[in-house]
Amino acid sequence: MIKSKAYSAASGTSPLASATIPRRDPTERDVRIEILFCGVCHSDLHQVRNEWSSIMPTVYPIVPGHEIVGRVTQVGPAVSKFKPGDLAAVGCMVDSDGDCPHCKSGQEQFCPNMILTFNSPDKHLGGVTYGGYSESIVVDERFVLRVPSNLKLAGAAPLLCAGITTYSPMRRWGVTKGKKVGVAGLGGLGHMGVKFARAFGAYVVVFTTSPGKKDDALLLGADEVVVSRDANAMQKHAGSFDFILDAISAHHDINAYINLIRSDGTITIVGAPEKPLAVSAFSLLVGRRNLAGSLIGGIAETQEMLDFCGAHNITADVEVIPIQKVNEAYERLLKSDVKYRFSIDMASLKLEQMTGR
Ligand code: NAP
Ligand code: ZN
Repeated sequence: MIKSKAYSAASGTSPLASATIPRRDPTERDVRIEILFCGVCHSDLHQVRNEWSSIMPTVYPIVPGHEIVGRVTQVGPAVSKFKPGDLAAVGCMVDSDGDCPHCKSGQEQFCPNMILTFNSPDKHLGGVTYGGYSESIVVDERFVLRVPSNLKLAGAAPLLCAGITTYSPMRRWGVTKGKKVGVAGLGGLGHMGVKFARAFGAYVVVFTTSPGKKDDALLLGADEVVVSRDANAMQKHAGSFDFILDAISAHHDINAYINLIRSDGTITIVGAPEKPLAVSAFSLLVGRRNLAGSLIGGIAETQEMLDFCGAHNITADVEVIPIQKVNEAYERLLKSDVKYRFSIDMASLKLEQMTGR
């Protein structure tokens, strides 16, 4: 076991602060990775503040972070995909049972024994898993991804959650050329949704509560931008969308978006607000519309997404921050003030003293 510097929160009301965590010695199939960048997902914030307590209560101290890129420093004897010096990435999952129907169909995210990168039971060391706001991580090679060498690493890190979470439902629901696609909420997920919908050839409309993001949305690849608080502007698009991705992190009226879907079209929720959303039955009945959800994506599909990003040179637009600014970054996330993902430069963690624990 070795000690690793990290940032952790001691309770739902404590800031993230310097800490020391254990990491296991690599077993047969494990890869040890020196973390270079870790994205800041709104899910980190939800969980640090225990906002998902009814579904997955947070165990403290928590070390969040599931958008990890780094360099391999050590591999177990049975590892075949990686060698020291390789670039490597880890997303939201670090293990699953490997033989349930979900695992066998490449959908490890639905495995009943799936282990999340943080705040899941750690079968090696006891306690819970610790995420990417740390110097290093040790992960079974089945859950380690290859990073295309042409991608800038700070912007590649967010692909591991924001990327796959938007790529997967767009593939699932056939977002292609000729389709009219909406993206609601231009944050970390939303801006990746715009990039993918554009790359798949769709006509893309962004729905935002932030009029100041209009120019950015167009630069990111949107064909139109609608300020969602403008009911008239929304009404102009009624019943016209093949697909809408709802990537909003906070409570909102989802019916306003459902009503924009054409008959037999689909709205997929990926945002995970703290409280349930109220759905009007009539919004769905009229037009036989589909309301769906989606959770990250499987490992094979995550690699497919990374390779697609390599081929199309797609990365997240990032504000690179030192880890010492992470609490400030959380406050800005709550104000929808990020362009469009914070990516922590983990070199900043090396400056911290090892704390005793
Ligand atoms: P984010 O960067 O904070 O973006 C969320 C965006 O939602 C904001 O930028 C804002 O966009 C919009 N928004 C915020 N408050 C709003 C409100 N009151 N009404 C309407 N719109 C509002 O968050 P993120 O990291 O992209 O994550 C988005 C959500 O997805 C989070 O709930 C996260 O936990 C969840 N998530 C789910 C999965 C999954 O597998 N399903 C994976 C990762 C994350 P505008 O300024 O454009 O309005
Ligand atoms: Zn995430």
